[in-house]
Amino acid sequence: MPQAQVGALQEMSANTSVIETDAVVIGAGPVGLYQVFQLGLLEVKAHVIDALPYPGGQCAELYPDKPIYDIPSVPVCTGRELTQNLISQIAPLGATFHYSQVVNSIQRQADGRFLVETSQHTRLLAKTIFIAAGVGAFQPRTLQLDGIEAFASKQLAYSVQDPAAYANQNVLIVGDNEAALQCALRLCSGNADGHPHKARSVTLVHRRDAFTATPATTERFRALVAARHLQFLVGQPTGFDEAQGVLRALRVTTPDAITTAVALDTLLVFQGLSPKLGPIAQWGLELERKQLVVDTEMFSTSVPGIFAVGDINTYPGKKKLIVCGFHECVQAAFGAMPIIRPGEKVMLQYTTTSTKLHKVLGVESKA
Ligand SMILES: Cc1cc2nc3c(=O)[nH]c(=O)nc-3n(C[C@H](O)[C@H](O)[C@H](O)COP(=O)(O)OP(=O)(O)OC[C@H]3O[C@@H](n4cnc5c(N)ncnc54)[C@H](O)[C@@H]3O)c2cc1C
Repeated sequence: MPQAQVGALQEMSANTSVIETDAVVIGAGPVGLYQVFQLGLLEVKAHVIDALPYPGGQCAELYPDKPIYDIPSVPVCTGRELTQNLISQIAPLGATFHYSQVVNSIQRQADGRFLVETSQHTRLLAKTIFIAAGVGAFQPRTLQLDGIEAFASKQLAYSVQDPAAYANQNVLIVGDNEAALQCALRLCSGNADGHPHKARSVTLVHRRDAFTATPATTERFRALVAARHLQFLVGQPTGFDEAQGVLRALRVTTPDAITTAVALDTLLVFQGLSPKLGPIAQWGLELERKQLVVDTEMFSTSVPGIFAVGDINTYPGKKKLIVCGFHECVQAAFGAMPIIRPGEKVMLQYTTTSTKLHKVLGVESKA
């Protein structure tokens, strides 16, 4: 039986801190954000968890600047704009966001609630869970070199939390995207962002002399390379050198098949993110072709109290569109109320006319 299976009744240890909540939303994509809104209208404050460091899911990660034309009453908006609008819409509703962490496990407790644990050791005890995990948790594409992962979180990283940590180090960056070039600029310019620390050397490696970063960032990068503040090497990582458990150099093979060992203290890899279904498959929920099977009345999964909305779910006639996910959120929010506030009669109210909803939204009621 998988360790994280929700069917298994487990007791929590008494002395660890845990956040108690009515609802946890897994995924801050467009559908997860709208789930927060629908729960908020019913006066349920949600905790939202996402693997990414920002909201928006696919809209933010895969097509932030591309136009979307099929959101009702919005003739056109980009992925970024849609995300910003959803964030503005839920602002009054008091949700709490936990970014840059993957939900690893869900365990049902003896009292019927669920213990949710993340990769950052955040622990939440929730009456209900709304899985809005889309195509999976966005995670960094790793460097495909046998054995290199042994250096992860020591000398190898896929994001930069604290640039000062690389002061006076020889830093090698792999990648051609905005994050890679921005990181190179930041580490070589030292106090540009208000921190006085500067890497000893910064070398960026990419397989060709072209970048997917924005033109402005690319121009700044090329200027610093021309001024010899940065090194740029065209080539592919093909191996690495280590000694006594320390990563010493990355072997880079150039297009004319010459392999050079580039000495380093730290290796930073920015090859974009890809979604991984990951632990969801181990939560004991009924799956069909890697999607969570739900009913179409309240979008409940096979475990009562756990709902699934958006791209992660499947049912007869499912269409993977944002607008369909939005509808599912309404049904799931109402479907969860007998668990969140048993015995309470929940009325459907219009945001146009309900003074109660106006209060919830912090808007003025007009007679
Ligand atoms: C190029 C492109 C264009 C598109 N254009 C349109 C369009 O025009 N109209 C339209 O309706 N749809 C469009 N779509 C589809 C639309 O983007 C998706 O239907 C929508 O993003 C689904 O939203 P979601 O919130 O369900 O999932 P997602 O947007 O995938 O968000 C899921 C979030 O959950 C997080 N997550 C997953 N698992 C975990 C975990 N275990 N722990 C923590 N976090 C987790 C992920 O990191 C992610 O941020 C397009 C898609 C693509 C790729």
